[in-house]
Amino acid sequence: MPALPDMHVQRPTDSRNRSRSINRSGIVMRRRIMPKGDIIVSLLTPQGKIKAIARGGVRGEQASRLNLFHHVEVQLYQTPQSDLATIQQSVLQGALPTLAQPERHPYAHLLTELADSLFQEGEYSQSAFDLYAGSLRGVAHQADPEWVTLVMSYKLLALAGFTLRPLCARCGAAEPQYPDPHGGQLLCMRCAALEHNAPAPHPSERLEFLQFAHKHTVKMLMLSPLPRPQRPGLWHSLERFVTTQVGKVRSWDAVSTQASALIHPPAAVRHKQG
Ligand SMILES: [Zn+2]
Repeated sequence: MPALPDMHVQRPTDSRNRSRSINRSGIVMRRRIMPKGDIIVSLLTPQGKIKAIARGGVRGEQASRLNLFHHVEVQLYQTPQSDLATIQQSVLQGALPTLAQPERHPYAHLLTELADSLFQEGEYSQSAFDLYAGSLRGVAHQADPEWVTLVMSYKLLALAGFTLRPLCARCGAAEPQYPDPHGGQLLCMRCAALEHNAPAPHPSERLEFLQFAHKHTVKMLMLSPLPRPQRPGLWHSLERFVTTQVGKVRSWDAVSTQASALIHPPAAVRHKQG
């Protein structure tokens, strides 16, 4: 895995020796209800990702606060014997109710799954938290949640150190302009012609996005959305890039139902992966 820029590991000095109570403010990325009624959540906070348990949570007020995508402040009790901190109290700091809409929900899920895979426990990163929180707000409020998701996915990847190579992924030639159908990178004309189904070159706007998204600000990228007919090719590149660089993400099919076109014919890709 490449080095993670903007991040440094910060270990609390006292956590090994004694129990302690700390407050953290973060967004619920994952929530699981256990058979005994405990709720286990993963939160992304500026101090890193935290996994914690609300004991008996489903029967109390915590149940509605510790919902997916909620911004909560939690009081955690951590003992040296357990990796799992206990949530003693939680306060809702912000909710984005429009994320429940079917045209937005799959995008919030995809970004969450991606951020969850990219950012690990113990990695202090205010920028990771800000980018993830901003991506959820964008999906919740913007008129074009699909474009928000494409932009923020590539920004999250870049923050974690995953950027496209500026050279042909096969031979290293300069100025590649063709899609790499397997790895979501870029290919030169010669290498693209050797592919089983030789791809057409990226349209210039899409190529520019792929080459420079990591350098441009979110604001700039949001101002120049890719025309919808060019987006399926971008989704395909993103799906391939994430699958080969980061690993399996389950939200693609759900996103396909909302994105301007299918990200991929699911059967064809399953066949390739299998
Ligand atoms: Zn090449």
